[in-house]
Amino acid sequence: MQRPAKTFLSRISHQFGGLLKAAGTHLGYKEAGVSTSQSPRLQVLSACTGCSAESFVLKGLRIDFDILSASESNTEYQKFILANHSEHFKHLHETVEKQLKPTGPCVICAKNGTSCEDFSRQVQFQADIMVTGSPCDPFSVQRAKRFQCGAVKDHVAYRITMSSVIDMYCKYGPHVGVLEQVMGFTYPLDTTTDETPYQRFLQLFAAAPLQHGGYYVVKLALDAKIWLRISRPRCFLVLFRKDKFSKEHVKRFKTMVEALSGWIQQNHTPRSLAEFLLEESSPVFHEHWSQMLSQKAPVPTPVRGLPMWKVQSLKLRQNLGDSFQQLKPWTSAGFQLQGLGQNPRLLEVLDLAVIHYADKEIFQGSSSTLDVKQRLRESCLDLYTDVSQNPSRKAYTCRATGVSKCLTTSSFVYGHARDRIILPLEQMLWQGHSLETKFPPSMPQSAIKSLSGEGICLPCLGLIFYALHHTDSLCV
Ligand SMILES: [Zn+2]
Repeated sequence: MQRPAKTFLSRISHQFGGLLKAAGTHLGYKEAGVSTSQSPRLQVLSACTGCSAESFVLKGLRIDFDILSASESNTEYQKFILANHSEHFKHLHETVEKQLKPTGPCVICAKNGTSCEDFSRQVQFQADIMVTGSPCDPFSVQRAKRFQCGAVKDHVAYRITMSSVIDMYCKYGPHVGVLEQVMGFTYPLDTTTDETPYQRFLQLFAAAPLQHGGYYVVKLALDAKIWLRISRPRCFLVLFRKDKFSKEHVKRFKTMVEALSGWIQQNHTPRSLAEFLLEESSPVFHEHWSQMLSQKAPVPTPVRGLPMWKVQSLKLRQNLGDSFQQLKPWTSAGFQLQGLGQNPRLLEVLDLAVIHYADKEIFQGSSSTLDVKQRLRESCLDLYTDVSQNPSRKAYTCRATGVSKCLTTSSFVYGHARDRIILPLEQMLWQGHSLETKFPPSMPQSAIKSLSGEGICLPCLGLIFYALHHTDSLCV
């Protein structure tokens, strides 16, 4: 017998696919462009895509595929990928560099005792599509020193996008490429220039020894918030090999992405994050919750002097006025704060979030404690606070838009309505996964959590693949 929570959530995640199909059907794209001449299995290359988002999306769109080769440096993510997609994977390397120049058997071949020596020749120019999600750290504006001179270029992960990813295009010449990056990729390199990493990438790309005449590049900005109420603004570059596609074809693709995205914005109310949460009584919840509590990271030892979070909190409270100096509306109201612990920094982040978000009149007046608790809960039904961030980040749901903050690798989110920490598994559901996604039993909760922060949002990538499929851009 299936567990009720599982059936419910599987259905929800499939609704993103259903929504995409509804948009396509309404816009008349249902059959458009899907070629009958396509080869039976799409040949895919993948680099640094975390959970192998492309595999989930292709399965969702019922497109059969082989991953010719992939790279992923995190060993927990490697296990996750193989637990979910092993039948599709031929080679899985530890780094993009090893994917470019294999120095020995890959993770899969080493395990099977087979050789992967002639990998390069096999893969060259066979790939229909390549998806890369190279590290976003150098470009992320979340990083405190992001705009300092040289901060982007000196970052160790910079060369993965600017050199290794370009080398992948030169060496393997995929027909189509999809590159995912944070929006910071399109902001200036530092305060001394207007040049953006995106422009630099295009320059390096144009100068690279690409075969087949290079690529047309489409730049897209897609955000998860049109699907569900969480922000994940991302820049996607979609590249089309010039000897395979015409300019008109590329324009048709871009128009379709914009039309699909526009249709969804006009016809779909972004889903509430609460719809993706597990019932606390469900066995899946129990399994992950007990693991999370037993694997909890130790609370860091306090630093000498006034820690940064406290300085920020004092400033925020000063700006709020006298009546807010000592106010701890949430942590003093008798909530259980399940999974949170007693770290004063986390508690202060929660209180500040509630002070800013909740109806102000709850704090005034002389209601009884019980009444205040009830009114606070009702006021904060859709509030999610990422307690991993310091107070000045204000990493909680925006009251005006109802949209919660983008997940990061360190996100530790408290759901006010449920009065508990959100499971890493639930964060994966916010990224478009369903309960059919498999987690290796040995995978630590911290790895599931960071994967949810690093992964590509499935509905956004799904939209791109839908448009590629319906413009006959796959298997040409
Ligand atoms: Zn191999």
